[in-house]
Amino acid sequence: MYKRRKSKVIEIGNIKIGGDNPISVQSMCNTDTRDVNATVRQIEELQDAGCEIIRLAVLNKDAAAAVKEIVKKVRIPVVADIHFDYRLALQCIENGVAALRINPGNIGRDEFVKKVVDLAKINNVPIRIGINGGSLEKSFEQSSDPLCKKMVQSAMRHVKILEDNDFDKIKISLKSSDVMTTIEAYREIAKIVDYPLHLGVTEAGTIKGGIIKSSVGLGTLLAEGIGDTIRVSLTENPIEEVHAGFAILKSLNLRKKGINFISCPTCGRCGIDLISLAKRTEEKFANLDKDITIAVMGCPVNGPGEAKHADFGIAGANGEGYIFIKGEIVKRVPETDLLDEFVKIVYSKLQ
Ligand code: SF4
Repeated sequence: MYKRRKSKVIEIGNIKIGGDNPISVQSMCNTDTRDVNATVRQIEELQDAGCEIIRLAVLNKDAAAAVKEIVKKVRIPVVADIHFDYRLALQCIENGVAALRINPGNIGRDEFVKKVVDLAKINNVPIRIGINGGSLEKSFEQSSDPLCKKMVQSAMRHVKILEDNDFDKIKISLKSSDVMTTIEAYREIAKIVDYPLHLGVTEAGTIKGGIIKSSVGLGTLLAEGIGDTIRVSLTENPIEEVHAGFAILKSLNLRKKGINFISCPTCGRCGIDLISLAKRTEEKFANLDKDITIAVMGCPVNGPGEAKHADFGIAGANGEGYIFIKGEIVKRVPETDLLDEFVKIVYSKLQ
């Protein structure tokens, strides 16, 4: 039985994270943040794909200055990712970011931390503490504890700094490139704090392997009720991260976005080019945000029956196919016209 971990609610712009709020999907631009046009263009593509929060790397003053223009031009909340330099954090808050990713323990002097925290409080800007298993502080690296424990200890050091400054709009991530370490680290921290958790497996790799690692890591945690927002890290166009994020959440029935698409694996009974047909069908309905199931099956003997729970489906036969609605065949169409005819029928019934 699915039971979500109880977490505090924070707000990143208009997106609520934690509590019973939907688990949000986020991504990160791979443009040069100083290039306002390129960055805004990429954010627009990502928001059209459903991305709900976007993070930008802020490496220097020029990037922090560009943030001011970027936040005005996009619909989704922008998070500034900053390492060490508290002045960039202050500049980004002043320039309208919705949240920061910065580890307070890396800022240095207490008075600098206080400046960031005070300005974040005034502007209702949450801070994500982001622990990466590959770049722990030296003091933790030397300990013989398992990596997942050291990651939690490191996160708690940063949490304490914020709490000592009377700040609790905190979100935590504990990413490792090792899936089991990531899972164990999040399980551990989920027991000791109630701050919302941002899930991710870092440096997950290119699209195929990366999606598998993220699905296993994030999927395991989400199924246990752990996680309030997710980012799938891929060495790819970030649009793929957004698609993968929603696919993971949809597979666990945690979000509804777009159609549910199913297709059979094909076997010797299949009489049409089902692999191509399935891909083209999925693409045709990629932007249809309806709570329906569409099935593409390889044969008329088993297809409509196996997919009778589908709202609409195609079952291939020899050089032709059958269109079915809730398991009932409604039309027989030559293979060449099958997809066009199917699209017409689906849209006419949805009107
Ligand atoms: Fe084989 Fe037909 Fe099942 Fe597809 S639906 S796997 S073609 S039996």
